[in-house]
Amino acid sequence: MHDYLNWPFFENHHRVLAQDIDAWADQTLTPLAGKAEGDVDDLCKTLVGELSKGGWLDYVVPKAYGGKFEEFDVRSLCIIRETLARHLGLADFTFALQGLGSGAITLFGTNDQKQKYLPDVRGAKKIAAFALTEPKAGSDAANLSMTAKEMGDHYILDGQKTLISNGGIADYYTVFARTGEADGAKGISAFLVDADTPGLEVAERIEVMAPHPLARLKFSGVKVPKENLIGKPGEGFKVAMATLDVFRISVAAAALGFAKCGLIKAGKRAKSRKMFGVPMSELQMLQAMLAEMVMDVEASALLIYRAAWKRDVKKVRVTKEAAMAKLFATEAAQRVVDKAVQIWGGMGVVKGQTVEHLYREVRALRIYEGASEVQKIIIARKFLESLK
Ligand SMILES: Cc1cc2nc3c(=O)[nH]c(=O)nc-3n(C[C@H](O)[C@H](O)[C@H](O)COP(=O)(O)OP(=O)(O)OC[C@H]3O[C@@H](n4cnc5c(N)ncnc54)[C@H](O)[C@@H]3O)c2cc1C
Repeated sequence: MHDYLNWPFFENHHRVLAQDIDAWADQTLTPLAGKAEGDVDDLCKTLVGELSKGGWLDYVVPKAYGGKFEEFDVRSLCIIRETLARHLGLADFTFALQGLGSGAITLFGTNDQKQKYLPDVRGAKKIAAFALTEPKAGSDAANLSMTAKEMGDHYILDGQKTLISNGGIADYYTVFARTGEADGAKGISAFLVDADTPGLEVAERIEVMAPHPLARLKFSGVKVPKENLIGKPGEGFKVAMATLDVFRISVAAAALGFAKCGLIKAGKRAKSRKMFGVPMSELQMLQAMLAEMVMDVEASALLIYRAAWKRDVKKVRVTKEAAMAKLFATEAAQRVVDKAVQIWGGMGVVKGQTVEHLYREVRALRIYEGASEVQKIIIARKFLESLK
């Protein structure tokens, strides 16, 4: 399972991390796996606490605030997400949101903001969320319409955000709103908004095919002090994109974890089930499916860890590499999990089976943090730029 860790993209501490988190996940997450359907709020809160106790949230905050490294080590984030996803999707979700919801503070926040939020994110005292999407602006996020009007030492926020992960259980939201310095992307700013701020309400809880805490939020005259502005006025879109740049590669890693889980489940089923007088795994059409699944998994891993290594070690922007990893790995995970369901036959679509859950779990990954079509545009643009 960990043979790819011998690739030159990794250092020894990554190999140790992979083994440690796998052992921790086996012990801690396996007993929780049966609770991943239905009301997931409590389970997510439990998981944040467990991830903190396990020391894994140390990887989402910088060293100066109790974290592991001076800055994000994307290979570690990917190893953690891949492993958590392989064991329990909601554990991966919880980990990712603590990172995504605090990433803007880590990258652009003031010392006071970092001091106030990051140790609590790490210590599971604050659940974080990232609120960019609106009912009329998802893929076209630069076109968002929530307003933030400057009024003395405050901003007043009005508008809506939707499909916000951790909506309803978060203690604070990183919110992007239009401050109007310019049209489009250059007129947006980023704010920290505590969940109990008057005027902020959870307008609707949204149920999705693989249960996650998700909500539509309504902001009516929400008063946010100026010290809660993250970065400079008008730089909010840059803040959002830089945060997503780090976490986009890790979405691909989560997809890889789901795909690996499906591959293992399919392989074991094929070896143990007899059909037409032989184990299923001896049927060549079945082997063809397995071969395609193995290729998809390993090609995803190559793209993911190449992108993460380049960002960590070469310290350059990896917009194209991250987009390629996200696009390929999320689409590949869908193919792999679909084949796993096929190999499991009728049992594959029975509620409660791991492959049935995986089938629902992987779908959203091709949509959020930039749909597949958006990734294609990024890759093509970067290629065309390179020809100049
Ligand atoms: C489970 C889940 C969790 C989420 N969590 C969060 C969160 O925590 N915070 C947050 O801010 N948002 C979150 N989102 C929202 C997510 O980021 C958006 O759903 C996503 O950006 C797509 O936006 P949209 O839903 O408005 O679809 P639209 O923007 O309407 O796009 C619809 C489809 O159009 C296609 N498309 C997009 N661009 C192009 C193009 N240029 N050319 C051709 N086709 C195109 C894509 O296939 C896309 O799926 C979450 C979504 C889901 C499903």
